[in-house]
Amino acid sequence: MVVLHIAVDAPLWDVLDYTHTEALVPGTLVRVPLGRQTVGGVVLDAAGPARAASATLRAVTEVVDALPPLGADWLALLRFAASYYQRPLGELMGAALPGWLRSRSAAAVAARVAAQRARRERAAFRLTPAGQLGLRAAIVPRHAALARLTSALGLAPLEEGASAAETRATPPLALAAARRLHPKAAALLRDWTAQGWVEPVPAPAARMPDDPGLPAEARPPHVLQAAQQAAVSAVCEAQGFAPFLLFGVTGSGKTEVYLRIVAHALAKDPRTQVLVLTPEINLTPPLATRLAERFPQESIALLHSGLAEAERFDHWRAAHSGEARIVLGTRLAALASLPRLALIIVDEEHDPSYKQQEGARYSARDLAVWRARQRGVPVVLGSATPALESWHAAQRGRYRLLELPERAAGRLPEVRLLHARQDPLLRTGGLVGAALQEAILQRLARGEQCLLFINRRGYAPVLRCPDCGWLSDCPHCDAHLVFHRTDRTLRCHHCGHRTPVPRACPDCGSLDLQPLGRGTQRVEEALVALFPQARIARIDADSVRRRGAAQSGFAKVHSGEVDILVGTQMITKGHDFQRVTLVAALNPDAGLFTHDVRGPERLFAQIMQAAGRAGRASGEPGANTVPTAGTADTDGSAAAPVHAAEMLVQTAYPEHMVYQTLRAHDYRSFAAQELVERRRAGMPPFSYQALLRAEHKRPETLEAFLLLATDLAAAPAQAAGLMVYPPVPASLARVAGVHRQHILVEGASRAALQGFLTQWRASLLESKARVRWAIDVDPTEF
Ligand code: ADP
Ligand code: ZN
Ligand code: ZN
Repeated sequence: MVVLHIAVDAPLWDVLDYTHTEALVPGTLVRVPLGRQTVGGVVLDAAGPARAASATLRAVTEVVDALPPLGADWLALLRFAASYYQRPLGELMGAALPGWLRSRSAAAVAARVAAQRARRERAAFRLTPAGQLGLRAAIVPRHAALARLTSALGLAPLEEGASAAETRATPPLALAAARRLHPKAAALLRDWTAQGWVEPVPAPAARMPDDPGLPAEARPPHVLQAAQQAAVSAVCEAQGFAPFLLFGVTGSGKTEVYLRIVAHALAKDPRTQVLVLTPEINLTPPLATRLAERFPQESIALLHSGLAEAERFDHWRAAHSGEARIVLGTRLAALASLPRLALIIVDEEHDPSYKQQEGARYSARDLAVWRARQRGVPVVLGSATPALESWHAAQRGRYRLLELPERAAGRLPEVRLLHARQDPLLRTGGLVGAALQEAILQRLARGEQCLLFINRRGYAPVLRCPDCGWLSDCPHCDAHLVFHRTDRTLRCHHCGHRTPVPRACPDCGSLDLQPLGRGTQRVEEALVALFPQARIARIDADSVRRRGAAQSGFAKVHSGEVDILVGTQMITKGHDFQRVTLVAALNPDAGLFTHDVRGPERLFAQIMQAAGRAGRASGEPGANTVPTAGTADTDGSAAAPVHAAEMLVQTAYPEHMVYQTLRAHDYRSFAAQELVERRRAGMPPFSYQALLRAEHKRPETLEAFLLLATDLAAAPAQAAGLMVYPPVPASLARVAGVHRQHILVEGASRAALQGFLTQWRASLLESKARVRWAIDVDPTEF
């Protein structure tokens, strides 16, 4: 009997001890009893000898031996993340390991692994050298279906007179794809396998939508432009840990750079793995397709929360076993087990979605950099609008700056600021001003596409009674109920509360309730009225609730079935739309005046990203130049060259620094000015922050706890040279009937802050307060 230290799948602060018949390697997956349940766990420490106390310890239920143990590097990652983010190790494990795995027996896991292996083994076929000759001799070329099948396998048609040696390099043919080419493909391939003409190879693990197998025609790699080449070389030549900031304007061909460095990393060693992170589920399919067509032989594992549970386990296992050499996913993929990790790419590294906002509030980007250091490998953070933290690190030489200053194809759109206060239509409550209407009409006439974004879904953010001033407030939250016209409901976007729209004002009975403000649905309605001839589509969280809806929506834009796309920021990121020549932000000013220090940074990034969707067609005139800012911006009649792509911003504050730097496409200047502000205010990246978040139904209980927490913090904070601010209500002070406040701690030293937090957390735990609280390190939402 030995005693094992095991991290169990539960948010416990302690590591638990269990007995087992034999020692187990650290990282071994096990199942253990916890209370009346059996839960997953990971062995942390090699066994010690049975202690006297072991009589009272419970035994490990079973070992999940169908999976190799997790690596020491993975355990170190989780330990680091748990300690840095001040969360229980079990909670981090819960975030890192697929739920399917955590809740299944060893036998169930073994069965799934075996089934997956069997499926992979007969999943695809490749022509052998013997097949090049044998198959050519055996087939009757006039038989069309047969010719299609052999050609898909890579056998050149005889008519082309190609010799066997010059047959095309063809990716393996998936069985599913083969069946579409020839009804008896399965039998034929079995036959040919027996003859030694084809051989089965594992199919890529990635399941793309509709499982297309592999794209019929892979786009050939671009010839790299000089700046792209320089970036690729820098990364490929890097030795050991090497953090890079790839600062490339939108459309500068960052993806091509990623593909090249992935190719290099994969070619260096037949077993290496690369990790590619993307901020949003919606951005994984296009990137997965690019990767699949460039690396047809490789298995790609996809890791994001949109996969069915068992499927996510399959992908996770492919990464964990090393079978998948390319792992693509959202922030949770930063915690994947990657035994042979050799390169990490974080696309759109500035994106706030990289920060988890509940449970273990980790930053996937920061963990990615930590992982790269731990493994001694390069990490590439890519963005057109880097996070100020990353930019600052590059300025100080901690990250190496790689710059792609020009578009690879097309040209950057001209940014025009439309003065909302000078437009009578906007002043009287219209949503689409005269200049914007004009610009849209132009696009419609030319058969080009427009993209309009507004950061609010629903019809109107609030319903108001003009007679008594009643507002549609959520009864459970400090928030308005949003008016959704499509199903005539009022909905709370925070707690989910939903009620039918009242016929009359609940307070005074007035029948004249009016929607106030605007959301995507209202903009869509306005556009339908203004442009009855146009095909208008909307993409936002409401429209894409159905699985696959987002993708089919974007596909319609790509295929040209949509003239005007309306949506939230969802439509502004990443997509390589070829026919969009006009992007407009309807009223983004709110971002200028939030109390959130990152407001301007986010607004700048958002508009720059949005602008990035325009003018990507290679046929655009004047490629590769940043347009000179128009001179007559504010009256909407700028002498824009015909057919130039444009980004229009309807704003009441065109003179604001954010808009002025946007107009000049000048991230550098924006960042420099923001950093001066941040330094002056002692804000990140010039200080380090943490929040103690606390919530409770009763405000008095909450306040008592915050008082206690403040007391507990005082002495250690002073000793560590940290500033503890008085408690303040969260920006959403009440959600679902629960009051929320937080205490901000700030200091110039990360180490001092960490030391303090560990101490503070321990004393808070000891206080056994009945309030829900959690520490949020490097908070990005307040
Ligand atoms: P980013 O991710 O930087 O916004 P993309 O990677 O989407 O940019 O590339 C923008 C467009 O430029 C794509 O259509 C891509 O195919 C094209 N492109 C990339 N590199 C080159 C190149 N070297 N030559 C020509 N076109 C390129
Ligand atoms: Zn009223
Ligand atoms: Zn609510």
